[in-house]
Amino acid sequence: MKVLAEEHQPAPTLTTLPSDDVRQIMWRFAGRYELQMLVQGARGVARGPVARLVADGGRNSHEWTAAKASLLPHFDESGITAAFLEPDQGGFIAGPKNLALALIAFELSWVDAGAATSSLAGNLGLAPIHERGTPEQRAKYVANAAPLKPGETRKQVRAAFALTEPIPFVGVETGMLAGKVRVAEWKEGREPLLQVEKRGRFITNMGFANVVTAAVESDDARLKGSCMVILEEGDPGLWDRGTPTKKLVHQLSSTNDPVFNLTVPAGRIVGGYKIENGVIVPNYSHGEIIEAVFRRTRVTVGLMTAAKLLSAVEPVIMYHRRRFRGGQGAPGTPRYELGIQQKQDALHRLADIWATGEASASLGFAAARLFDQLEPVEKEKDRVLAEKKLTGRAAFKELSNAQAEALAWLNAKTGAEPGPLAQFVLLDSLAGVLCPACKLWNTGHGANMMREAVSLMGGYGLTEDCPGFLGQKWMDAQLEATYEGPEAVQRLQLSITMTNPLFMAQFEQWISEMKRIASDRPGTGACALGTAMKLWLWTLQHIQTATDADGAKLYHKTRQGVTFPLADALCWLLSARQFILDVIELETSGAENPSPADGLAGTVAFFTDLCHLQAARAAGETGRISAEIAHGYNRHPAWDREGCHSCYEAEELTSLEGVMPGMDGAARAHSDVAETGEAHPAKAGPCVKCEGLEEFAALRAKLDGCLTGCRLAKDRAADSLSKVMTREALDYPV
Ligand SMILES: Cc1cc2nc3c(=O)[nH]c(=O)nc-3n(C[C@H](O)[C@H](O)[C@H](O)COP(=O)(O)OP(=O)(O)OC[C@H]3O[C@@H](n4cnc5c(N)ncnc54)[C@H](O)[C@@H]3O)c2cc1C
Repeated sequence: MKVLAEEHQPAPTLTTLPSDDVRQIMWRFAGRYELQMLVQGARGVARGPVARLVADGGRNSHEWTAAKASLLPHFDESGITAAFLEPDQGGFIAGPKNLALALIAFELSWVDAGAATSSLAGNLGLAPIHERGTPEQRAKYVANAAPLKPGETRKQVRAAFALTEPIPFVGVETGMLAGKVRVAEWKEGREPLLQVEKRGRFITNMGFANVVTAAVESDDARLKGSCMVILEEGDPGLWDRGTPTKKLVHQLSSTNDPVFNLTVPAGRIVGGYKIENGVIVPNYSHGEIIEAVFRRTRVTVGLMTAAKLLSAVEPVIMYHRRRFRGGQGAPGTPRYELGIQQKQDALHRLADIWATGEASASLGFAAARLFDQLEPVEKEKDRVLAEKKLTGRAAFKELSNAQAEALAWLNAKTGAEPGPLAQFVLLDSLAGVLCPACKLWNTGHGANMMREAVSLMGGYGLTEDCPGFLGQKWMDAQLEATYEGPEAVQRLQLSITMTNPLFMAQFEQWISEMKRIASDRPGTGACALGTAMKLWLWTLQHIQTATDADGAKLYHKTRQGVTFPLADALCWLLSARQFILDVIELETSGAENPSPADGLAGTVAFFTDLCHLQAARAAGETGRISAEIAHGYNRHPAWDREGCHSCYEAEELTSLEGVMPGMDGAARAHSDVAETGEAHPAKAGPCVKCEGLEEFAALRAKLDGCLTGCRLAKDRAADSLSKVMTREALDYPV
């Protein structure tokens, strides 16, 4: 009887939109009170002054207006500005801050990513100093970015980061610097003075910044290579903020094309310098600094687009339910209660948008946490190398040895911890993939999905009044896909990092992990995802040595047609995987947490269905891309002579009699032998096209089978979307 009663329990369903408790568990900050407070602070700014400014038309100007500038004190008062700083610099978060900054970006972008950019660009401007600056530079510039305490009169540093230059100089190609640095004056026993000439293009915060970190190249035999230099408003020379950029996006941030020609002491070289044989040698080139900066800040950008997608869910549901009530509809009737939600397509598309938002948030926050984890390990690596007095090539060699140690450790799976350098290379190999993956997929695919969200709002989507500002968010997403390196840059990086044997070895373990999850929780779609991961890895490994029909190498940096799509496929897999892992975390840790226990089962069931449809979509993308690459570079042996017939079975060839008079299938096979010396593929042995790809073909066929149930999951998710409770009105203005 008991069993029967349990069997007839209704399946748990989603009752409300996910609460903060749910998010804290999924994105792993349930135990971090300071981050929870930060989220509340940032949310108050986003849904208060930022939302009001957008609703009042604050985005309708290119200039840096007083209204836009009024947001800066809000950032300062809410803790947003200080979150970047160390406690001894006026900050309040000890230790790594990647997750903290990611959460701020997420909250602000929920309403307007221009506001988020305004806040984050200040951090970006300081980041070169934070990452590679000397202790004196950190004390002077980073610490002075702290909001003023009552009674303080110092000038608060507001920073900008100037890399990009007017065409035809630096853009995606960061080495093509026009900005120059020369020795202006070098008196015996005194610090040299430098002349810095830099023209910037699209420089964020430039309408108000008073400190700029600028990338320049030496134009003087007495100064070596390139570097980043700190410029201050008030330095002797030209400090021209330039004209505001006529942006179509992120209008709440300030963007200008500045011009600088300033004299500064050599102590402004970020990270300091040495004098070798009468030459100033910067400790870090501009490339080294940019690399250290962007690998962290790009994660935050990825979360901006994730927030947009998730923020679209509620406005779309509210709009759909109220549409088409007409004059006759009465409460309780399907038309009155559901409106457009009576139509399956509207629900299915919203499920796709929501699943994409979840997967991208999961991937982005996982990347942010990974960088938090990496930071102390990286410091330890630096300490070990310094202790052994290893730099340059010697340090590189030591890290290569650590790579071998890490690989051996992964394969042996012993309980013993790997050494500090091996730990570093292990985590670093993941960071090298997760950062570009979340920047690329979250923003690029995210922008496509924002268009879907806009389309679900009909004509309203294309107005400034659209609830949730979805039209602006669609356009804004494209900037997130562009700045800090557009998609091509992320794909380029992935094409290198995804073939790191350490990453591939860990990826292989993730395949087994997905298969294990598939046996415990088949509803997540982990089976399809695991098979897709296997197919991707097989394809990647296959093309390391495979050549195209003309014998040219397939995996090569010039063949972006091969490497880039595989990078895209990997992103689909990584995001779907992380979403599954986060839902499992919600289910397991949520059960121990009293807050979300109410309604937890329904949320987990709904998210499990979203995982399934996302895994299926990721598997589909991977299957398509892998198949195009595995087969697409072979040339069919028969095409040159008579077009493609080998795909037909022999019986079908026989039926070609009508199409190609005078030749039946058997005759064709014979004529193939006669003409070319080789049997027609359809008649003899395995298909020539597929030779060497039998395993691929088997995996691909298996993958299709693994999609079992994914559309049922989508139907269930759609049903939940038609029933979930929303608020009466959004909690920010329109
Ligand atoms: C609103 C805004 C704010 C910005 N803020 C800042 C800032 O604060 N500081 C700063 O320094 N910069 C800033 N930028 C600049 C931004 O980072 C650059 O626009 C971006 O990195 C791309 O450079 P680009 O526009 O010159 O594109 P380009 O270099 O001209 O590239 C254009 C396109 O060509 C293709 N492409 C280029 N190279 C390759 C390749 N190797 N392989 C394949 N395809 C390729 C890609 O499709 C690429 O998107 C900002 C830009 C905007 C729009």
